[in-house]
Amino acid sequence: MNILRNLKALFTPAAIDRSGYWVYIRCDDCGEKLRTRIDLDFDLSDQYNDTEDEINYFCRKTLIGSERCFSPIEVKLTFDEQRRLIDKKIQGGQFISEEEYQAE
Ligand SMILES: [Zn+2]
Repeated sequence: MNILRNLKALFTPAAIDRSGYWVYIRCDDCGEKLRTRIDLDFDLSDQYNDTEDEINYFCRKTLIGSERCFSPIEVKLTFDEQRRLIDKKIQGGQFISEEEYQAE
């Protein structure tokens, strides 16, 4: 029944950008808003979770603003086997929503 399940997955909303995940952040130092696209096919590395029977995917990115300060902001994301986001951490900034990113 895996084929049926895979077909169904193709038609979920997540299929719109199935291979990418956008992250929106604001720099703690200067307030500059940044965004980056995580490529779920290329940017993730395998990582076994605590029980070692499932694989999670891990991604670390460092962003540096271009307008005001040049403080690095480090983003760490963990995805489950289906590449759904299950944990996110940030240093040097805050996560914001896409709406907040667009608003000015
Ligand atoms: Zn900054």
